[in-house]
Amino acid sequence: MHKKYFEDAATVAKYATCYRARCGSVIVSKRNVIIGRGYNAPPLGDETQRTCDVEYHTDKKPKSDKTCCVHAEWNAIIDALKNYPEEIEGSTLYFMRIAGDNSFTEAGDPYCTVCSRLALQSGIRWFGLWNGGPQMIDTKKYNLLSYDFYR
Ligand SMILES: [Zn+2]
Ligand SMILES: [Zn+2]
Repeated sequence: MHKKYFEDAATVAKYATCYRARCGSVIVSKRNVIIGRGYNAPPLGDETQRTCDVEYHTDKKPKSDKTCCVHAEWNAIIDALKNYPEEIEGSTLYFMRIAGDNSFTEAGDPYCTVCSRLALQSGIRWFGLWNGGPQMIDTKKYNLLSYDFYR
């Protein structure tokens, strides 16, 4: 069952327009319905908002988020909150980053503290990463693990 949703996330990732990574995410409700989808792209898909190529002066980097586009997870969460606000509680988020040939890549350890807080705060219960197979992590644990990454 989990594998299917990682495949769905990989399909969504094909639409990613970020220059740095191709990521996709789907959110699945407790009754096993996909309630949110997202891929990483500039805000609103607006090219004037693209920051993928921006090079920051080392002492002037954005402090709370050094990445560029709207993350696939943020877009999936916004999508779910807009269309199925009653169903995000207790749901499961699946994340997938695909390679140039569309194959699955390993997510590695959690490290995005923005996604980890947003997933937890929005009521998502499980955060799914692909690491040789499905790795399903409680969002409370996921958030703490994301901070541990930098210790
Ligand atoms: Zn980008
Ligand atoms: Zn993130």
